[in-house]
Amino acid sequence: MSFSAITGQERAVTQLRGLLAAGRLPSALLFVGPPGVGKRMAAIELAVAANCQNTGFDGAPCRECVSCRQIEQGTHPDCMLLSLDTQAEFFRKAGEDESALKKQEHIRVEPVRHMCDAALRTAATARHKFFIIDDAETMVPSAANALLKHLEEPPPAMTWILLSAAAESLLSTVRSRCQRVDFRPLARHDLQQILLGKSLTLAEAERLSDIADGSVEKAMRVRALLENMAEADRLSPLFPMQAAKALPKDTKEARADAALALELLIQNASSRWKIETSRAKKQALAGGIKRLFEYRKYIDRNVAPALALETALLELEPLKLSFSTDSRRQG
Ligand SMILES: [Zn+2]
Repeated sequence: MSFSAITGQERAVTQLRGLLAAGRLPSALLFVGPPGVGKRMAAIELAVAANCQNTGFDGAPCRECVSCRQIEQGTHPDCMLLSLDTQAEFFRKAGEDESALKKQEHIRVEPVRHMCDAALRTAATARHKFFIIDDAETMVPSAANALLKHLEEPPPAMTWILLSAAAESLLSTVRSRCQRVDFRPLARHDLQQILLGKSLTLAEAERLSDIADGSVEKAMRVRALLENMAEADRLSPLFPMQAAKALPKDTKEARADAALALELLIQNASSRWKIETSRAKKQALAGGIKRLFEYRKYIDRNVAPALALETALLELEPLKLSFSTDSRRQG
């Protein structure tokens, strides 16, 4: 069956299979759901299934024909993916400065126009063209408006797929022209299965799926963060400094990691609060949790992430918090 690679999104997959089987792919789809739950994979699967040159009797794509391979590799001339990453590549080729490209937080108008042009051209090989825009809510107004023109008069045999974790931030005129498909946070069991498929150990998969809010992306980010922090010695007086130093050099990444680190500390404190029997210690932990939420806010307000993390760890040193996500080994 098509979409066999998508785990834990039965409703969305049923909806997409239905559209595909009925031969009624709309000119615009909007996949809504948190990051890291399979939206991008499902969009690529849809393009693969609609264009395979060798579809099996059960509707499953062969994954071997030129079309299947090109779409999966992102090299198909009629099926394009635009995201903050591919956009950086687009502008790098145009000679823009690499360090500025890393910091991009918005999809700009030029790559959207590039897709719109391709949408108007006759397909090179595809039966049905696909143009996928990830993080669609980050489009600058001129990009959204360029897209809107296309959605108003869509050429035949093509589908735009917008992916968004914050669909309410999309231009309402764009949103209203898309058929919506909802993706949900992955169930713990489904997330574990996906993580096991990425060669994580069972213990690691269990631990990460406890704290990743049903998101593969978040689970992998926590994993990378814990790896970075592994060098920092929790028992050393230098721990706050070491942890801050272990943050990535890039400010945007450091900010995301520091926020995640504080989140892990909050979870660590919360799980200990639940099993703590001493009233005084319970109170101290509750106070610590409150302070950690405040530090979390400082990071959103552009306080230097390393400074915020180091200060939080120094201030809360008496609580002996750790980044460990395994509540059974704490306390
Ligand atoms: Zn194929």
